Amino acid sequence: MRAVTTAHDLDVTPTPLALLLLGREADPKSERGVDCPGDLPAPSDPDLVARARAAKEKLGDKVFVLGHHYQRDEVIQFADVTGDSFKLAQQAAARPEAEYIVFCGVHFMAESADILTTDDQRVVLPDLAAGCSMADMATAEQVAECWDVLTEAGIADAVVPVSYMNSSADIKAFTGKHGGTICTSSNAKRALEWAFEQGEKVLFLPDQHLGRNTAVRDMGMSLDDCVLYNPHKPNGGLTAEQLRDAKMILWRGHCSVHGRFSLDSVNDVRERIPGVNVLVHPECKHEVVESADYVGSTEYIIKALDAAPAGSKWAIGTELNLVRRLAKQHPDKEVVFLDKTVCFCSTMNRIDLPHLVWALESLADGKLINQISVDRETEDFAKLALERMLALP
Ligand code: SF4
Repeated sequence: MRAVTTAHDLDVTPTPLALLLLGREADPKSERGVDCPGDLPAPSDPDLVARARAAKEKLGDKVFVLGHHYQRDEVIQFADVTGDSFKLAQQAAARPEAEYIVFCGVHFMAESADILTTDDQRVVLPDLAAGCSMADMATAEQVAECWDVLTEAGIADAVVPVSYMNSSADIKAFTGKHGGTICTSSNAKRALEWAFEQGEKVLFLPDQHLGRNTAVRDMGMSLDDCVLYNPHKPNGGLTAEQLRDAKMILWRGHCSVHGRFSLDSVNDVRERIPGVNVLVHPECKHEVVESADYVGSTEYIIKALDAAPAGSKWAIGTELNLVRRLAKQHPDKEVVFLDKTVCFCSTMNRIDLPHLVWALESLADGKLINQISVDRETEDFAKLALERMLALP
């Protein structure tokens, strides 16, 4: 299981060893069970920073390193650009001169970058075991089975799939094939508005919380308009009548990081820090989002902190690497993590300095490792869904 420390530890700079252990430990609930064999440098090598710098310099414009906001600082320092998953995929597409895109993020993000970049560009994920528990909660087979259930209930023609960016290329392709669109946590409302102009119902994949929060908070639907499709139960655990009555069919997936925040976390922090502003990501549970003062995507959270006045107090419900970085960047404000226990994304944390050094040095030696490549048919349909998102008003 993932290492857990207390909130008290947040005030203390973690030892490199603690971080490395965190990234290396297995979390069977959120990892894909993929191995990443390779001749990795030792984490204790004192020259890792110099080695990464030298390899990157040798590669020059041939390499472009992307760093997701949730990555460790030891990796982020080598990123040419930082951002959320969609911004990073767009940035990769805007660099056709870069032969290699080294994606410091998770598997579905590297797939999206491969879909949006040219055929000549190669996307590399420094650790193949860096998956995403949420994306893995919806497989192509399960979603195809769900579509059969909707067809049998006589409603498939009225359903428009909307898939969160945090999904595999297969799910994006399914979405494109069935007339749907992709969304991010910033444009989920616009995506749902568009979808309800195309059909009467939405199948929202794979994050139930983003789907529910957007439907209820932003679109004025009631909780009763939403049903939860459980891929592990026959017919999703729903009757044909329930499916026919629903407006939002939510896939039973969630983020194992944001799903940990609870109403108790919010009540607790309000008691501990009077006057605190609670700011959470929409991947959090509905009751957490309802009890927060502000809700928004990772980019929204960063901008909210930039705009906040000195002396203001913030409890943030998102991944811990980002919250720590924000606390460092805003010493004039009190920035704390929303929960008492540490909540890293263990799969994101798999990308550490030894993996980055290994990837960069291999590329500098002319050896392509850990390439993420999406097949042509999947890519074409997934691109269709992504282009619909880009065309959203
Ligand atoms: S934070 Fe959640 S959604 Fe993002 S990569 Fe980690 S498990 Fe997936």
